Amino acid sequence: MKTILLPLILLITLGTSAQSAKEIGLNTINRKSAEVHIEFLASDALEGREAGKNGSKIASEYIKAMLQEIGIKPLNNSYFQEFEAYSKERQKRVRFSVHPDSIAKYKKEAAHRKLEMRNVLGYIEGENKDEFAIIGAHFDHLGIDEALVNDKIYNGADDNASGVSAVLQIAKAFVKSGKKPKRSIIFAFWDGEELGLLGSEFFMLNFPNSSQIKSYLNFDMIGRNNDESKPNHVVYFYTEANKAFGEWLKNDIKKYNLDLAPDYRPWDKPIGGSDNSSFAKREVPIIWYHTDGHPDYHQPSDHADKINWSKLVNITKAAYLNLWNMANIDDY
Ligand SMILES: [Zn+2]
Repeated sequence: MKTILLPLILLITLGTSAQSAKEIGLNTINRKSAEVHIEFLASDALEGREAGKNGSKIASEYIKAMLQEIGIKPLNNSYFQEFEAYSKERQKRVRFSVHPDSIAKYKKEAAHRKLEMRNVLGYIEGENKDEFAIIGAHFDHLGIDEALVNDKIYNGADDNASGVSAVLQIAKAFVKSGKKPKRSIIFAFWDGEELGLLGSEFFMLNFPNSSQIKSYLNFDMIGRNNDESKPNHVVYFYTEANKAFGEWLKNDIKKYNLDLAPDYRPWDKPIGGSDNSSFAKREVPIIWYHTDGHPDYHQPSDHADKINWSKLVNITKAAYLNLWNMANIDDY
């Protein structure tokens, strides 16, 4: 009995140690999954996923269903974090707000506007339940303009179905790695970004203690070429004080042979552009991946067939490796 078991155990141990938990997760990230997520979210059936409208509700149901299938639990009792945003009536051209003081002010006016939205939030509990690494992307976009001639739907494949696909693939990669992270991880899908970062702002306004958030990684538009002669170009914004963020990406590109040519942009206070603002303004260190502007930006022509799939997959892998560090490295 002993003589058979021992070599067998040795064999199994050797076999599994060839690939680390981190690499097992990394190898689950693939092009086909990115295509499935983006082609669904950017299809005409979702009507441009406008915040507060039916299309964004369907998008949030899809994300919830994917998290359930992957085996990611909700952050709280529900995957949905419901919220309301208010504004003055539309002739006054005031932006929607989720801030309680603004809401109280707008509600006093006879004519005021209200939208109902919801973030989708998944969670992996770490060894430390009191410290968080958060990764997120907004899923809402610009909806439909019935007055447009021909294509009326703002499909938003790059902006930001691309980012949503990355968060979903990274969530799955963490589950498949089979390793419990040191810090807890929140996988966030924001609503209302296009109306003024509403989902991420609401989340932070209601997060009990923002000093427990060790870092935030954001995606907004990670699927296109800004210049066709530079297909590997990606802008990598990060909080300047966290020098390690720059080093991590440099090292991982080399180690894992990722076909990316990042434009490293350390930023003293990365407020602006996208949902990273809601974190950076509260002193949470951030990383933000973005493949830059293009002629289809905020146009009905932002379609899935224009995505650079190979770059999208490489960015997803790079960000997975970032998040692995964010969740597991003691200090940075
Ligand atoms: Zn966007």
